[in-house]
Amino acid sequence: MATTPPATRHSAQKDAIRRALNASTGFLSANQVHRLLQDEGTPVGLATVYRQLGALAQIGAVDTVTGPEGQLFRSCRTDSHHHHLICENCGRAEDLELSEDWILAAAAGHGFTVTRHVLEVFGLCADCASPSPDSTY
Ligand SMILES: [Zn+2]
Ligand SMILES: [Zn+2]
Ligand SMILES: [Zn+2]
Repeated sequence: MATTPPATRHSAQKDAIRRALNASTGFLSANQVHRLLQDEGTPVGLATVYRQLGALAQIGAVDTVTGPEGQLFRSCRTDSHHHHLICENCGRAEDLELSEDWILAAAAGHGFTVTRHVLEVFGLCADCASPSPDSTY
């Protein structure tokens, strides 16, 4: 009798979650990922989505930021240390690679050695900042 080991089902869910993240250019909430999976016909429980996203974030496979509506997740194109520029309106995000000497210098000015830092930049993307021509009839 061929029974599917539970691990296979689990990694299929994880793959579906990764696929949804890879297909998006912006940050997604667990709710949005849940809805995308529902739409593509891979029903995964919301609790599982939360758990899998948390696990992916923990191993560094996805980046996570805290937005106005809670924790958001994104599969970034780069593995190197970077920051994010995030549109508050549509969730679109860009990876930002900054020159960071000023962080070390500012901390050293207070006698601190930097162990880690968190920096996210929120704003409006070009599309959201300018009114769309479609909106005027
Ligand atoms: Zn990133
Ligand atoms: Zn940095
Ligand atoms: Zn936008």
